[in-house]
Amino acid sequence: MSSICYDLHSHSTASDGVLSPTALVHLAAESGVDVLALTDHDSTDGHLEAAAAAAEVGIDFVPGIEISVSWRKRLIHIVGLGIDRNFPPLQQGLAELRVKRQQRAEAIGARFEKIGMPDVYAGACGLASGVVGRLHFAMYLVERREVRDIQQAFKKYLVKGKRCYEPCEWASLEEALGWIHGAGGQAVVAHPARYKMSRTLFREFLLDFKALDGAALEVTCSSHNAEEAHLMAGYAEEIGLLGSVGSDFHSPHNSWAKLGKVHPLPAGCPPVWRDWQ
Ligand code: AMP
Ligand code: MN
Ligand code: MN
Ligand code: MN
Repeated sequence: MSSICYDLHSHSTASDGVLSPTALVHLAAESGVDVLALTDHDSTDGHLEAAAAAAEVGIDFVPGIEISVSWRKRLIHIVGLGIDRNFPPLQQGLAELRVKRQQRAEAIGARFEKIGMPDVYAGACGLASGVVGRLHFAMYLVERREVRDIQQAFKKYLVKGKRCYEPCEWASLEEALGWIHGAGGQAVVAHPARYKMSRTLFREFLLDFKALDGAALEVTCSSHNAEEAHLMAGYAEEIGLLGSVGSDFHSPHNSWAKLGKVHPLPAGCPPVWRDWQ
């Protein structure tokens, strides 16, 4: 018996993915995904189109979100799964985050202008059809051959400590989980091994997340190796959280994050879909 393939973290042109919601769903189906969550950054604008495409190709669609959260001045991504996009406080909160994103993009643009690259803001905006993010800036820098790849663009300009990094105060953990739960969804810590926190701090974060009824850790994802997945399964067990699986797909050109190509959850890690119908 072949098992069901879940991919519960992906992006479309509604945020910083390069495929339209329809093209994303088609590629997911071709890649053998049975259950796909669309989790764009701070936007649910791709949901209707993705749901229609999924119905057409016969895969299950999970409406999702990836919310930008500031926890003790650190950027944390919280995925929401199974959310009703029509929950007004969710949309109100996401709209506020998009205003902050727009203001941050302008500030990043001003930083590039200051170092002699005045066209970068317009270039990045030209690549964004929905929510504008740092990845659009990185993509533009690659396009104009300022850097050799996306990684280098982040490393040279866009990460904390670099010249064109612009800090931003996102949603609080409490707000994000409140919106997700109010919208009927489950909250998942996205790519948990990517946050550069000490064990003590990370545990404090997980306890805060658990106290707010957070459901799961993304135990397996494209940015975790087998050891990190194992480590995260251990935290999930210790804190009492389920495990989620997501590719964090953004583009077919990215060879290390392919739709549906994520390792299965480590044995004994209960999945976030345990109680799904
Ligand atoms: P933002 O939400 O606009 O701050 O940008 C975060 C997004 O940028 C992530 O979701 C990734 O898509 C991308 N990203 C962040 N760091 C890197 C990196 N080092 N290399 C490639 N992409 C990155
Ligand atoms: Mn992204
Ligand atoms: Mn993320
Ligand atoms: Mn993501």
